[in-house]
Amino acid sequence: MIPYGKQDISQEDIDAVIDVLKSDFLTQGPVVPLFEQAVAQYCDANYGIATNSATSALHISCLSLGVKKGSLVWTSAISFVASSNCALYCGANVDFIDIDDKTINISTLSLQKKLEMNTINNKALPDVVIVVHMAGQSCDMEAIHKLSIKYGFSIIEDASHGIGSRYKNKPVGNCEFSDITIFSFHPVKIITTGEGGMAITNSEKLSHKIKLYRSHGVTRDKEFMKCQSVDSWYYEQIELGYNYRMTDMQAALGLSQLNSLDYFVNKRTEIFNKYEKELSCINIKTPFKMNYSEPSWHLYIIQINIKRLDRKIIFDRFREKGLGVNVHYRPIYQNPYYEGLGFKNGLCPKAEVYYEKCISIPIYHGMSEADQDNVIKTVNEVCS
Ligand SMILES: *Cc1c(COP(=O)(O)O)cnc(C)c1O
Repeated sequence: MIPYGKQDISQEDIDAVIDVLKSDFLTQGPVVPLFEQAVAQYCDANYGIATNSATSALHISCLSLGVKKGSLVWTSAISFVASSNCALYCGANVDFIDIDDKTINISTLSLQKKLEMNTINNKALPDVVIVVHMAGQSCDMEAIHKLSIKYGFSIIEDASHGIGSRYKNKPVGNCEFSDITIFSFHPVKIITTGEGGMAITNSEKLSHKIKLYRSHGVTRDKEFMKCQSVDSWYYEQIELGYNYRMTDMQAALGLSQLNSLDYFVNKRTEIFNKYEKELSCINIKTPFKMNYSEPSWHLYIIQINIKRLDRKIIFDRFREKGLGVNVHYRPIYQNPYYEGLGFKNGLCPKAEVYYEKCISIPIYHGMSEADQDNVIKTVNEVCS
């Protein structure tokens, strides 16, 4: 089976982890801050805060932006559930915005319309909007940022798919048009630390808060303490935080993987270009690339013509023929848990139509030419 995504671990990566295993610190040693600085620098941003997953980074980013009971967070209908669960963890209410059917990203137009309608009808406006860069293609951040100024919301970029991507010739994660950007280092993503994630921000204040929530809400920084004790052991818990820390072993893997990031993204782009050229079947739509964007292509999502093809049959035939295809994603609110919160079908029509059509076919940096040709041949045959 050719998987839809797969990590690529080199001997250098393995050696880097072994070095940590032989060192004094397995966790909270020197490598986590090195990894944080390296990612922040790669993104042209000020601060990186490493966590044990992107999900926990999303959670404490919401907390750091003041999301709490009674807050309102909006996100895209098409994403992994973590993009909206993070707001529920804080006790907030969530709502979903429909997608742009070209990019599968949050529709800037639908966002704008909902903001306008809610203003006219005296309904609540969001405190935070979490945008998701599907397959690593950036949302139109400049336009969304303009809306955030007009309507007064904060922005988190869920760039779990998108480390190594560029938007308007600058790295995704530079936070030029957002408060915080989140990366995931799960093995199916672009670079990996096993489990792991990172929050990136340019705000010193936010970086302090995220760090505080990452480690029990405990500080040793006099600036934030209530009591100015001179005892060197002294610390204070000033918030209810978590243990969301990344280990040095993971950070060593991440730091080493970072050396291959540009190579990985170039490889993925080569495969993307080959698919674009050679997937000739007229019954499928291939991904749409915006001019402003150079995506990392975490996923290659085809949309099948459901008037002519049955998705279930096509999906099962792909699997039979050895393609580890997948579906990214079902509209979040159609999951039973969200139905239980009162969400109904019909909320985001474009997202619902997209879900009927989408299939992610294999793409990853270590894919052999033969596997690529096999995918192309199988897709062209099965879909015609
Ligand atoms: C993978 C993913 C996450 C969660 O990442 P973890 O590191 O597994 O917690 C969140 N959002 C999106 C869009 C993802 O693809």
